Amino acid sequence: MSLPAARRTSPTAADPHDAERRTRPALPGRFTGPSHLPGGAGYDEQRRSLNPAVDSRPAVVIEAGRAADVRAAVVAARELDVPFAVQATGHGTHVPTDGGILLKTSALAAVLVDPARRIARVGPGARWGDVLTAAAPFGLAPLSGSATSVGVTGYTLGGGVGWLARRYGFAADSVLRAHVVTADGRLVTASREHNPELFWALRGGGGNFGVVTSLEFRLYPVARVYAGALYFPIDTAAETMARYRDWVDTVPDELSTALLLREMPDSPDIAEPIRGRRVLTIKAMYAGAAAPAERLLQPLRSIAGPALVDALRPIRYADAAMGGTAARHLDLYRRLPDTVLESLLSAYTEPGSTVANIEIRHWRGAMARPAADAGPVGHRSAPFSVIVDGRDPELIERLRPHGVGGSFLNFLTDPTRTASAYTAADYRKLREVKAQYDPDNFFRVNHNIPPAR
Ligand SMILES: Cc1cc2nc3c(=O)[nH]c(=O)nc-3n(C[C@H](O)[C@H](O)[C@H](O)COP(=O)(O)OP(=O)(O)OC[C@H]3O[C@@H](n4cnc5c(N)ncnc54)[C@H](O)[C@@H]3O)c2cc1C
Repeated sequence: MSLPAARRTSPTAADPHDAERRTRPALPGRFTGPSHLPGGAGYDEQRRSLNPAVDSRPAVVIEAGRAADVRAAVVAARELDVPFAVQATGHGTHVPTDGGILLKTSALAAVLVDPARRIARVGPGARWGDVLTAAAPFGLAPLSGSATSVGVTGYTLGGGVGWLARRYGFAADSVLRAHVVTADGRLVTASREHNPELFWALRGGGGNFGVVTSLEFRLYPVARVYAGALYFPIDTAAETMARYRDWVDTVPDELSTALLLREMPDSPDIAEPIRGRRVLTIKAMYAGAAAPAERLLQPLRSIAGPALVDALRPIRYADAAMGGTAARHLDLYRRLPDTVLESLLSAYTEPGSTVANIEIRHWRGAMARPAADAGPVGHRSAPFSVIVDGRDPELIERLRPHGVGGSFLNFLTDPTRTASAYTAADYRKLREVKAQYDPDNFFRVNHNIPPAR
């Protein structure tokens, strides 16, 4: 089938009213799922992004009722020459779909688990909570992230770093197969055997190469873990941060940790000793039993002193809610010299600080040992990420020379920095694959990778 070429306009360039006039009469009867037009019931709810800076005004929102609706929506957007975007949950939507077709996949949330092959196959609307629930009865775990509400497909296409990533790698590394509607309206299989370049690009390249209608990936035999958080007074933060930086080199891949400087909410849900206080937190997950985990954590405990609250415990992986929010500003670091640690701590503790939370997370492990044909998740060897939650441009500038200069797609809210999520070689190759599968840049309402000329 041949479809008209997409205009090479910016995602927001179309006149929303013109697009709406053209789109409205062309839609009836095309889709099995409901459509929402501006002013109609459901429109505002369906177009919502979790990023408060994004106020999308699509000409229409189409809720896919069947996988065939995905293809129908791509074909309609091509025919009408309007922008097109896909959204499962809105957790990672940072570009508005003004005047275009916004395809919602939330209803296509089926999850199938094959316990013998340790594989899950999910629809594009599935959230991690759905997969955790389906896999746990078999003692299996997906490489999910910190929040069960995040969409599996968006998370995985953006790399996907979770609390088992040091043990088993990025979620993208465990993908086995995807069914994809490409920019020319074909439904294709991407796997090692079929469309291998597309398969490579999907495993880290985000939503640039097509709409995934089903995703198949590995599960792992992790039923129970030792996980949670330890909360300490902020007084020993300087010593604990320095010890943490060196200590992480000694721990096995089974142990994932993050050190946070956090302001705890002043809420009755929070334990009294830390309620409304600024504290140092160590989050940890050990893929194994409590005793060896505690032996590993001992050097940190000995520096940080008695915990105000000790919430580490043996728990089902599926129930280990580790908490987490979308990153405001994440950078990757090869080293954390004293000057970086001191800058972070002083920016956090100085009077009138605008920094609410800081997270230093330990990466590496299996993430840094990709298979030969692994996808383009960039900067794999960086051992640390640092998230600064709050507005402190001076701090960001002071830290910048120490970072690797790269980011991670899933934690990038600024779409103009998309290239920074990849190595230069991978980014070049991504642009070539884009030119092959989407030469008109039809899939551009996202963290866009433009096609190579
Ligand atoms: C509370 C919270 C916690 C998070 N924790 C983690 C974490 O621990 N680890 C981590 O790696 N990331 C994490 N993230 C980031 C998250 O992985 C990204 O925001 C991801 O894009 C969310 O995907 P989604 O489908 O839920 O979002 P959506 O907004 O629905 O989609 C985001 C983008 O994904 C692409 N996409 C979605 N569905 C499809 C599809 N079917 N086909 C093609 N492209 C598609 C599109 O480009 C779309 O714009 C977190 C985010 C939040 C808000």
